[in-house]
Amino acid sequence: MKADKFRVKPSSKVNLNKFATRGKSDQSKEALLADMLEVGAELAALQLKLYAEDKQSLLVVLQGMDAAGKDGVIRQVMQPLNTQGVRVSCFKQPSTLELSHDFLWRVHAQAPERGEIVIFNRSHYEDVLVVRTHKLVPKAVWKQRYEHINAFEKLLVEQNNTRIVKIFLHMSPEEQLERFRERLENPEKNWKISDSDYSERELWPDYMAAYEDALSRTSTPWAPWHIVPADDNRTRNLAVAKIVRHALREMNLRMPEPSVDLEAIRAKYHTAANIAASAKSKVTAGVKAKAPTKTSAQATTKIATKANASTTAKAPTKASASQPRAATKRVATRKTKVSS
Ligand code: ATP
Ligand code: MG
Repeated sequence: MKADKFRVKPSSKVNLNKFATRGKSDQSKEALLADMLEVGAELAALQLKLYAEDKQSLLVVLQGMDAAGKDGVIRQVMQPLNTQGVRVSCFKQPSTLELSHDFLWRVHAQAPERGEIVIFNRSHYEDVLVVRTHKLVPKAVWKQRYEHINAFEKLLVEQNNTRIVKIFLHMSPEEQLERFRERLENPEKNWKISDSDYSERELWPDYMAAYEDALSRTSTPWAPWHIVPADDNRTRNLAVAKIVRHALREMNLRMPEPSVDLEAIRAKYHTAANIAASAKSKVTAGVKAKAPTKTSAQATTKIATKANASTTAKAPTKASASQPRAATKRVATRKTKVSS
């Protein structure tokens, strides 16, 4: 399963009937799971580089009908990532304040910072999907929006080094009904049920027409759409994970060079370690030298026991006692954290 195969070619006319909704795979459940773990590990490594490099960012736009699996994808695919560098923005019905601005105002504010991965759970595309389907603004207004969207996305790409990956989770109406049934029958899923799920479902053909137009008009070289079969959760998640990995791989991410002179810092570390070691041996020597009187003997034993306990707690391994290996490694790990 290659990430490229889901990509919508720029300027192509999308007919969603021609795209499968159920992902096919020859792999067993276990093999798919193993693949997912492998891709996840690479995603985590790539994210670390993105965060450390602090020069580019990734925006993943997720769209789909109700119950297509947007939440599931976010949970499963993004799980291996460090939460410190990831953010999810959900776009619901706009507030009065948001409606008193242009439609991209609230979206721009959520665009990723350098070093960050942001996932849009629904997005500015709602302004040419639900808005068009429900005629919330005149046609003349929503028709202009495709161009504005393309220009806005280009701005993010060109002016803030943002990579944009857009994913449409393509689900059949039959699968949606099955998922609605599960939401009804499983008490853990009851909270997800909403009346609007059913009223929106009745507008399925209108939504598909709106999606086809959006996918055709806004799959650009700088912000391509991907149509991912979403009826089967495992193949769906793996496809999305591979699309995101492909995007990150293509970003040519690099760990930054250290901003300090490592040799000078190493010398400082050894000096500090030597001072700490000699202070410790002085304390031990002092305790031994003091001849215990009968009354002070118990106190000395207590001190010695305490000293021993703390020595045991921080018991130096052979390598760390004679310095470099473990100690250097600890410093190296710390450096990674600082720079990450
Ligand atoms: P689920 O798929 O689990 O149902 P959801 O994304 O549908 O989750 P909801 O709270 O059910 O979340 O619905 C959010 C609603 O907000 C959607 O129906 C969406 O179409 C609507 N919405 C988002 N953006 C806009 C917008 N710009 N104008 C009008 N409605 C919008
Ligand atoms: Mg909903």
